[in-house]
Parts: sequence; C-alpha cells; structure tokens
Amino acid sequence: MKARVMRSTGSFYDVLAEDGQRYACRMRGKIRLDEIKETNPVAVGDEVMIELEHEYGSIVELLPRQNHILRQSVKKTGHAHVLAANVDQVLLIATLKQPRTSLGFIDRFLVAAESFRIPQILVFNKKDLLSEEWMSEVEQLQKLYENIEVKTFFISALSDDDLVRMRTLLQDKITLVAGHSGVGKSTFLNRLAPAHIQQTTGEISDHSDKGTHTTTFAEMFQLDINTFIIDTPGIKEWGLVKMEEQEISDYFPEMRELRMQCRYGSSCLHINEPKCAIKDAVENGTIAFSRYESYLSMAGGQDNRK
Ligand code: GDP
Ligand code: ZN
Repeated sequence: MKARVMRSTGSFYDVLAEDGQRYACRMRGKIRLDEIKETNPVAVGDEVMIELEHEYGSIVELLPRQNHILRQSVKKTGHAHVLAANVDQVLLIATLKQPRTSLGFIDRFLVAAESFRIPQILVFNKKDLLSEEWMSEVEQLQKLYENIEVKTFFISALSDDDLVRMRTLLQDKITLVAGHSGVGKSTFLNRLAPAHIQQTTGEISDHSDKGTHTTTFAEMFQLDINTFIIDTPGIKEWGLVKMEEQEISDYFPEMRELRMQCRYGSSCLHINEPKCAIKDAVENGTIAFSRYESYLSMAGGQDNRK
C-alpha cells in the first residue's frame, strides 16, 4: 500500500496510508540506496510502499522524489540529513520587530531553497505591532523580494482575515514552514490546523540516540486531503550543503541573470574582480545592497549560525 511519511524519529516512521489510516512503521531490512550518503534514507514527505503486519507496518520501498531539502547533519560533519522530501514550496515567517529577523538570515534561507529549486514565500508577521512609520520599510522589502520572484505577505497571525489569505496559498500543496523562534510560527500553525498541531507539537526524541544529542525532526500535518504543512521545530538554520563559491550567485536570481557578463564569466566571485557585472549592478542600484552583503557573507564562508 502507498503511504506518505508524516514524521520520523530515525527508527520509527509515522505514515499516512492510502486507506486514510496512520501506521507506525519500521524500515524493512535495508532499502538499498547505495548512492545516497545522507544519514536518513527516508524523510518526512517521502512517498513509500508499506506492508502491514498486525497494526504495525514495514516500509519496503521508497518511491521517486520530486525534490528534497538537505541540511548538514548535526551528528556527523560532512554528512547531510534529508530534512524533507517532495516539498512544493517553503514559507519563511519573519518579523521586523519582536524579534527582528536579519536580512542575512532571510537571504540564506531563500538561497538554500533556491538551490533545491523550491519556490519561496516570505511572510512578515506581527503587522499589528508596526505603526505607520514602519510601512515604507516593509513596502521596500516586499518590493525587493517580489522582484526576485519571492511571494511576500505582510500579516498578523492574530487576524482571521490574514489567515484565510494564507490558507488559500497552501491549498493542495506541501509547504514547509520555518522561522526563528518568537516570530509566531506556532501561533500561525496552531491557528491553521488547531486539532492536529496542538496535541503533537514538540520535540520527538529518538530513544536509541538518547543522551548523545537532541535532534528535532520535521513533522508533517494534514490540513485536508491534498494539503500538508511541514513544521520544522528547532531548526534555526539550514546548513548550506556543499555549495561551491562559484555556485552561490546562481541561487541569487538577480545575480544569476548577470553573472555571465562578468569579465571572468562563471569563475568570477564578484568580490575583487575587475569588470564585474554584479558589482556594477550593486553600484547602480539594480541589485539591492543588502542582497549583495548577504552574498558576500556566504561567499566568504561565514557561518550565520549563532
Ligand atoms: P514561535 O516561537 O515562532 O513559535 O512563536 P509563537 O507562536 O510562540 O509566538 C511568540 C509570541 O508572539 C507569542 O506571545 C505570540 O502570541 C506572539 N505573536 C504571534 N503572532 C503575533 C502577531 O501577529 N501579532 C502579535 N502582536 N503577536 C504575535
Ligand atoms: Zn562578477
């Protein structure tokens, strides 16, 4: 029977099967995935084939993925962890106040999603806390990001009307939702899917790993038959997995278009090189300075994690 992985602790998989039931599954034997070096072969969002024995099931096959999102493994450096698979869009909740989300963080998130070719939505929350004088800043940011094909919204998670708008955006899709703690992610998710989330939110700890570290796992919730959201509790930063310096500007859409006009073409890092089309674009304002700053911090290998 076909099923969707909703949650995983590393040894158990909670799946939603075609028959509408949830089953706890283990992996049957070894699903051979020789070319995969990720620490977890099956992730939230994956479609799998299961076989049932009594009330438990076994995952016997992993079905082809549309895409996946990787993170650097917290356990082993150099290894990647599949955060989620088959994601239609990612939604980042940010705030300008209480707390302020840095543009560097927003850009890193967008670049990571772009590297997996997943469309992005940026939601500025806590609109009700911002007085008139903030509006021009918000409008500027919305314009900046809309120009690079990121959908942006300015909402209050406390407003029913705003949530109705957001719900429409999620319809019939799998959406991964992320945000720094304090931005209102739980409020947002709880109000969109009250029944499911309030009971289950929190860390799932994998007992086989007890004591060695605390890992938080992504978790999927069903809003209706075809609509799912993936929460990423405790995930503050997506590690940029093995990205070459030269590759980074490919994931800045406004740079991707220009980079072949640099004198050194695809080997230009857009830092000190002469006749750099990207530096020119920053100077004449076509590329936002804040985006270029984020680029420099990534290209310089700076780690934005706290
Ligand atoms: P999380 O850490 O991202 O899950 O954030 P929470 O959902 O726990 O929200 C953090 C705090 O912000 C809580 O006190 C919420 O009530 C508050 N909050 C969330 N959304 C809004 C909003 O749109 N406006 C205001 N004023 N407060 C909000
Ligand atoms: Zn250049």
